[in-house]
Amino acid sequence: MNSNLLQTPIDYLKGVGPNRADLLRKELGIHTYQDLINLFPNRYIDRTRYYKIRELQENISEVQVIGRIVHLKTVQQKRGKRLVATFVDDTGEMELVWFRGHKWIRESIKINVPYVIFGRCNRIGHLFSMPHPEMELLADHERSLRTAMQPVYPSTEKLGNKGITNRVINKLMQQLFTETGGKFTETLSQPLLSELSLISKPVALFNIHFPKSQELLAKAQYRLKFEELFYIQLQLLIKNQIRKQKIKGYVFDQVGGQFLRFYNELLPFPLTGAQKKVIREIRNDLGSGAQMNRLLQGDVGSGKTIVALMSMLLAIDNGFQACIMAPTEILATQHYNGIKELVKKLGVNIQLLTGSTKTSIRNEIHEQLQNGELHILVGTHAILEDKVKFHNLGLAVIDEQHRFGVAQRAKLWHKNTTPPHVLVMTATPIPRTLAMSLYGDLDISVIDELPPGRKPVKTVHRYDSNRLKVFRFLKDEIAKGRQVYIVYPLIQESQKMDYKDLMDGYTSIEREFPKPDYQVSIVHGQMKPADKDYEMDRFVRGETQIMVATTVIEVGVNVPNASVMIIESAERFGLSQLHQLRGRVGRGAEQSYCVLMTGHKLSNDSKTRLETMVRTNDGFEIAEVDLKLRGPGDIMGTQQSGVLHLKIADIVKDNQILKAARYYAQQLLKHDPALATEENGVIRYTYGQLSKYKNIWNYIS
Ligand code: ADP
Ligand code: MG
Repeated sequence: MNSNLLQTPIDYLKGVGPNRADLLRKELGIHTYQDLINLFPNRYIDRTRYYKIRELQENISEVQVIGRIVHLKTVQQKRGKRLVATFVDDTGEMELVWFRGHKWIRESIKINVPYVIFGRCNRIGHLFSMPHPEMELLADHERSLRTAMQPVYPSTEKLGNKGITNRVINKLMQQLFTETGGKFTETLSQPLLSELSLISKPVALFNIHFPKSQELLAKAQYRLKFEELFYIQLQLLIKNQIRKQKIKGYVFDQVGGQFLRFYNELLPFPLTGAQKKVIREIRNDLGSGAQMNRLLQGDVGSGKTIVALMSMLLAIDNGFQACIMAPTEILATQHYNGIKELVKKLGVNIQLLTGSTKTSIRNEIHEQLQNGELHILVGTHAILEDKVKFHNLGLAVIDEQHRFGVAQRAKLWHKNTTPPHVLVMTATPIPRTLAMSLYGDLDISVIDELPPGRKPVKTVHRYDSNRLKVFRFLKDEIAKGRQVYIVYPLIQESQKMDYKDLMDGYTSIEREFPKPDYQVSIVHGQMKPADKDYEMDRFVRGETQIMVATTVIEVGVNVPNASVMIIESAERFGLSQLHQLRGRVGRGAEQSYCVLMTGHKLSNDSKTRLETMVRTNDGFEIAEVDLKLRGPGDIMGTQQSGVLHLKIADIVKDNQILKAARYYAQQLLKHDPALATEENGVIRYTYGQLSKYKNIWNYIS
């Protein structure tokens, strides 16, 4: 079709006019014919059934009835008037009621002429009444394009009040198809259409607005969803391709002494298959000549740290420096101690830099960084400060990505003349296909295997009223030499209430577990870092048996002897947070437990979260449930990625279509990276439009 026609301002469509055009623009963002075609229905109502008045019942959501208006009257009320019509068919009578727009309705309604009415019914006394029905003359109804499945379009209160009802939108849509002839240009290639048995673009657009049957509606939806996701995936893949061609990276082609010596002599345990696979993927990246930007997803406890360390050794072997950045001071310290211990025999120079590093040491670190003596810098976001300059940074590792933003990742890029390789690690797994859409600029590795011998954590849900039993259980476990975490919610570290809960909890724990038999540590966000470290250390060394804490211990902390995790007010935590917390236990050889404490009053979502935790230890399964509960909007990264602006597909519900779309986009680029063949011309053209307009639905023509 002549694409200029589709760019026609909506004002010119018959039946629109300046006032309606204004409303359509303001309320629905519809400026042109094209925008209107792309206004997809939210849902469809089955209008195959016509009710008799005698058949009406309460609790039927929406009904349609054929009948005649025999009488019309205005009733005076305390506040305003209402217009009441008596509507009859051959089985009985009912009322139609209007509270607004009387004049217009009085003038337009025809008495004693058959109408089809549609809407919700209320029963008032013995009579059924339908407020503000949708009405259409039976004669028009029979002639209209409208079909059994009636679309319901997005609307706003204002549109409704100004008389732009669903029926009006429907009429405009009909008008639009009449004016344009509905002959829209195909936007997918012939091979794709045949391979996937997709219906053509014009047929899909027609049936999304005027479905001829359930079956055709389903096909139309599939086709349009596929198309939407396909072009998004194509865009992501092409961007990634370009990045790899454009952004050169340092080549680490030496697998040298440090890496090999560590691997052969110092590894404290055999690597899991998944760890080996990921290290191979990273090595490939590092030798490829392009900058690595890789996301490593692995459930809590899957052993990401050792992968990070071995990657850093590769950097050192090639004459580069490396850094690893963690979101909290506790975690950075733990990485520092752990890594230092592991590489002790290699003579690798490693330092810790956090907000509380003393100036004298900080100066020393700065100097060693710049003269190249320092090999590995471990730290918090203190590493990002401009003052921190490297001699030759080759690899930056970011642990627990969800605590860092894209901007911070970008900052690391500028720590060397050529951007260093970047490895981002996260223990908050998100479904792979979603990850690919969110982090399109990253390659993804997954550790999908836990080290052997891990016993799954046993998780139970207990009500506060059973607290004494839980305490007895804790005493038994402590008697066996184990350690316990008790975690309190602290949504914002400054919230006074939470702080009070924590302190009350601490007092009661100290009462229940008195000295000298028991030693209790406490760690929370309002403590000085030095005090936190001190308490944490005591727990790590086993001097205290109980650690009362807020979620500051959420990520990364590794105390293998701690085998019980009690989570207070568990209903107040999100699923991924609960899973993270549970990941603090189950790190040693002993059976571990996680107890979710709550009151009796629980919302449905809370119940689902608790049940999910009790049912499974699998982070990916938990992530799927979480995604269904919260929707993608709350997941880190979705805001920037545009997946929320999908017009017809749903990133969660249409996961299968998303997979197919990605697969076919990959295949396409594999065989025709430049989209140069004739049969892919349509995709090349559409893709070009898409990049030009930014909005993927601007390309229909
Ligand atoms: P995460 O992926 O959560 O960061 P860590 O790297 O902290 O996990 O590893 C968790 C624990 O598992 C650590 O104590 C680590 O030493 C241990 N570990 C890692 N890999 C293996 C392995 N292949 N075999 C046995 N233990 C391992
Ligand atoms: Mg970790």
